[in-house]
Amino acid sequence: QTPLLESDFYRFQEQLTDQERASLGKLREYLERDVAPIADEYWARAEFPKQVIAPLAELGMYGPGVPLVRQFENSAVYRGWAALELGRIDAGVATFIGVQSGLAMNSIAVAGSDEQQREWLPRMASGEIVGAFGLTEPLSGSDSARGLRTTARRDGDTWVLNGSKRWIGNATFADVVVIWAKDVADGQVKGFLVTSDTAGFTATKIEDKIALRSVQNADITLEDVRVPESRRLQHADSFRSTATVLRLTRTEVAWQAVGISVGAYEAALRYARERVQFGKPIASHQLIQDLLVKSLANITASIALCTQASALQDQGLGGDEHSAMAKAFATARMRETVGWCREVQGGNGIVLEKGVARFFADAEAIYSYEGTREVNTLIVGRAVTGQAAFV
Ligand code: FAD
Repeated sequence: QTPLLESDFYRFQEQLTDQERASLGKLREYLERDVAPIADEYWARAEFPKQVIAPLAELGMYGPGVPLVRQFENSAVYRGWAALELGRIDAGVATFIGVQSGLAMNSIAVAGSDEQQREWLPRMASGEIVGAFGLTEPLSGSDSARGLRTTARRDGDTWVLNGSKRWIGNATFADVVVIWAKDVADGQVKGFLVTSDTAGFTATKIEDKIALRSVQNADITLEDVRVPESRRLQHADSFRSTATVLRLTRTEVAWQAVGISVGAYEAALRYARERVQFGKPIASHQLIQDLLVKSLANITASIALCTQASALQDQGLGGDEHSAMAKAFATARMRETVGWCREVQGGNGIVLEKGVARFFADAEAIYSYEGTREVNTLIVGRAVTGQAAFV
């Protein structure tokens, strides 16, 4: 039997099937052996470790929720735990998968025709093709579903795209980017599979980030980019298609945030046991125990919420408000937790080598992407009051 994660204090992983636990065990083994030792160095150089792409495909991490390509039948709760295990070791790698599998592949699975799914998804599941998801724009972030300025104009059998995108993860080396644009004829948001070799498409890396440094985020410009009708996602006909994708991925980002908290907590606990002050390990000081226990309580409460958010998805009962609350809650708890864990390490908490600093920094990006805390709060607020407070 695959061992439970030690920080799974209330033994939630016992709810998974043996096959799911075995798969998580293999993932954990790979991440601890091959990713943990290189994560800081790639983070510091702001490079993505591309050598992880193929092994993660073998571990079934691209499209585990898509029946056409998944390695075995599994639950959303299992997929959440996979996001946690990834976040626990490297939020950059977890984000790469969140984009490839969660955003890009799910867009095709949710809104692509059968033919489009068969054309793209197997090659993305094998890691042969890297995908990206282009929704956010320089002038449109939280309001991107409604406020998109990128345009799509139909010209016979092709579409002509013009506009710009910002923050697009994986986009400096992705083979295909799902570009969301407004059809000038009917004003509706449509999705297009744009290959990066298309004339008029450019992706420029965003430099000097202080969080998720290994993730390659890009500014994209689209100048008269021509895309055949066969590459328009056939079932995406309004901004609701993007909401459907984000409902799935937001819950996984919430799980990923718990993983970041776990990574920071484990490093803080190790440090507290070793570091001696006033003649004894700081782990034996009451106030340090308070920081550690509060961190573990945040982790545990977040796992409980995420487990139920994913279980609702499995039952077909998960709404936008459930994934939004999970994301807002888990990321707020993460931000608190990584701060406490950094505090446990004192001055050493700000150097990468001691194991908390990278999680502390990366938490800032995860707090804001896939809907900020404010916007996810307003999604829940709309559900409970019946009043939309966005504008
Ligand atoms: P803004 O929308 O400008 O918000 C600024 C502030 O105002 C926030 O605090 C926000 O909560 C607040 N605010 C906005 N509206 C309201 C309101 N109505 N009420 C109260 N407060 C409000 N996008 C993609 O499409 N693809 C990607 O792959 C991708 N990857 C990303 C990776 C990283 C590392 C980052 C940082 C971002 C990424 N994003 C991506 C974009 C991300 O989704 C946006 O940053 C996010 O949606 C917020 O938009 P914004 O940054 O433009 O902030």
